[in-house]
Amino acid sequence: MERYPILEVNVNKIYNNAKVVTGLCKENNIKVAGIIKGFGGIVPCADAMVKGGCVQIGSSRIEQLKQIKKAEIDIPLMLIRIPMKNEIKDVVKYSDICLVSERNTLSELQKQAKKQNKLYKIILMYDLGDLREGVFSKDELLELALYTELELSNLILEGIGTNLTCYGSIAPTYENLKELSDVAEFVEQRIGRKLEIISGGGTTTLPTLLQGFVPEKINHLRIGEGIINTQDLPLYWNSNIDGLDADTFILKAQIVELNKKPTHPIGKIVVNAFGETSFYEDKGIRKRAIVALGNQDVGDSSKLIPKDKSINVLGASSDHTILDIEDCEKDYKLGDIIEFNVLYPAMLFSSLSEYVHKKIIK
Ligand SMILES: *Cc1c(COP(=O)(O)O)cnc(C)c1O
Repeated sequence: MERYPILEVNVNKIYNNAKVVTGLCKENNIKVAGIIKGFGGIVPCADAMVKGGCVQIGSSRIEQLKQIKKAEIDIPLMLIRIPMKNEIKDVVKYSDICLVSERNTLSELQKQAKKQNKLYKIILMYDLGDLREGVFSKDELLELALYTELELSNLILEGIGTNLTCYGSIAPTYENLKELSDVAEFVEQRIGRKLEIISGGGTTTLPTLLQGFVPEKINHLRIGEGIINTQDLPLYWNSNIDGLDADTFILKAQIVELNKKPTHPIGKIVVNAFGETSFYEDKGIRKRAIVALGNQDVGDSSKLIPKDKSINVLGASSDHTILDIEDCEKDYKLGDIIEFNVLYPAMLFSSLSEYVHKKIIK
């Protein structure tokens, strides 16, 4: 007997998507780090990204990189969240390269790298206006670059990078990426050598690349979503890449109640299970189903897209998701399984939930 809910992961589709994206990037002399944080670092998926042409595997969580290392996948590992002070030892032990924006973090990395007798690589982060991580002026960047290059003998300054469309919703454009490329040249002149990596962001840089607006000097991207869950590209970016398959993750949940009920709640309306005020459109009495899956598993039920296009997700509490099935052709029965595509946040939550069973499809 299968146990639900199940998150089905199609590793072959992830492999194919990786091939498409790394191929496209290769045409533009761009190398790709495959980012695995969106699916909790599931090892066979990371392996598929490597086989599909990613030259590094990256995650924000050192625990996930540790798993990849343990699985003996032969690929450089990149920590993409600037490290915490208390994880530096693990960072040096379980990864090969990380993103850095603080002088003190560089010193700590040096200490640990020396202790562990390792040469450890770093990428300095430069903020182009999205206002998440990164130093804010090119002089400060140069100072960190010179500090690493001249004073920290166990660290290798591998390159510089930036992050966009995260906190500040800033799009990658020719202008801001050109600024990154200019800053890279500025640093290269001062240190007297070329940098290996100029990392121009993540998935959201792909549409800019397709339009031909990524400057030549950018030679690296850190891509998760664009390989593992490509539904957002057409949805938010009006961008379609030929050959990408959006059906990589399918979440399956079981019907535990079928009913006909009013669409507008009855009584004095206050707040829902999460303390939010909701709006309920009165559409009269309609057929609905409850599936045993909740916001605890997916974060937010509005990030679920039913495969049966006639189903409408009405909402969810922690453990129950309510579906309008009035317009469905199929006559759903108690115990039937409903399939959903998951947008990025729902993929993130469901892959991390121990209550959601994972099934790898080859
Ligand atoms: C999450 C993350 C990425 C990857 O983002 P995607 O949108 O999944 O491609 C790249 N770089 C950093 C620093 C990140 O935190």
